[in-house]
Amino acid sequence: MTKKIVVLGSLNVDSIMKMPRMPLVGETMALTNVTTAPGGKGANQAVAAARQGADVSFIGAIGNDANGQFMRATLVNNGVNVDQLKTNGDVPTGSAFIMLQDDGANTILIHGGANQALTTADLDHDLIIDADLIIAQFEVPYAVILAAFELAHNHHVQTVLNPAPAVYELTPELMAVTDIILPNETEAQLLTGIEVVNDEGVLNRVTDALQAKGAKRSIITLGAAGSFVADGQRRWWAQPEKVVAQDTTAAGDTFIGTLASVIASDFSNLDDAVKRASIASAIAVTRPGAIPSIPTFDEVEAYS
Ligand code: ADP
Repeated sequence: MTKKIVVLGSLNVDSIMKMPRMPLVGETMALTNVTTAPGGKGANQAVAAARQGADVSFIGAIGNDANGQFMRATLVNNGVNVDQLKTNGDVPTGSAFIMLQDDGANTILIHGGANQALTTADLDHDLIIDADLIIAQFEVPYAVILAAFELAHNHHVQTVLNPAPAVYELTPELMAVTDIILPNETEAQLLTGIEVVNDEGVLNRVTDALQAKGAKRSIITLGAAGSFVADGQRRWWAQPEKVVAQDTTAAGDTFIGTLASVIASDFSNLDDAVKRASIASAIAVTRPGAIPSIPTFDEVEAYS
């Protein structure tokens, strides 16, 4: 049966600006190149789940502008239902400006725009209640996430939280209605105050700290080191697929969207779901870009 997933999240248009170095304050400097690409964690995760065959609907907002039309078309072209994608004429579509220096360092500026203007009135209750699972990140207001998860939880809809970026606290109220939380190592560190290193003892302590905040299940993604999974006291280090990474953008989003598309309602197949998510994200890092790099169901099958 096709899994019904709601993604409550952000859409951004990324402007990737290539430059020899960062400009000085007051300097006018020529860029080497500029490209634009669809982005935002919400959009990436929605596309990842849809490419795995899930029935995905998006709850979010765009501005009344060309960037908004670009993002709407991106979701539609990837088979994501946009009936609940709102247009807010008062603010621009979210945007990210990625300053990529010749030495590889990158500096990112984000304007939340319509993502940050989302309110609880934008939540379609029937859509959430009717879903099997809802995913949210921390790029839309906290109050909206909490309201959506409370509604979902009360109607036995699975709740998947990607606390990224780690700008809100893991409050007891939010954790009470969250079934699984997936931070990457930076977010896990910010949320727990423990320096995350690839050591089983440390990862157990970080997991204990997440559980002390009320997390029932957690997956800390560790880039090329795989992920550390916990379902209560059952814990394991899921090994990554061995690939040659070219561009790790959207690795975490691919992992989350894929996991959501295959996870059983009682989490009984967590091991297999993590394995499939690890394969999908490993494929994504071998290819350039964010959304273009996300694999389809058939590509994951062919790899398995
Ligand atoms: P984020 O993009 O949120 O920072 P991570 O970098 O932790 O997320 O990556 C998410 C997952 O993608 C990892 O848990 C791992 O399974 C996979 N992954 C990331 N980088 C690599 C890599 N170099 N080789 C293989 N798998 C990778």
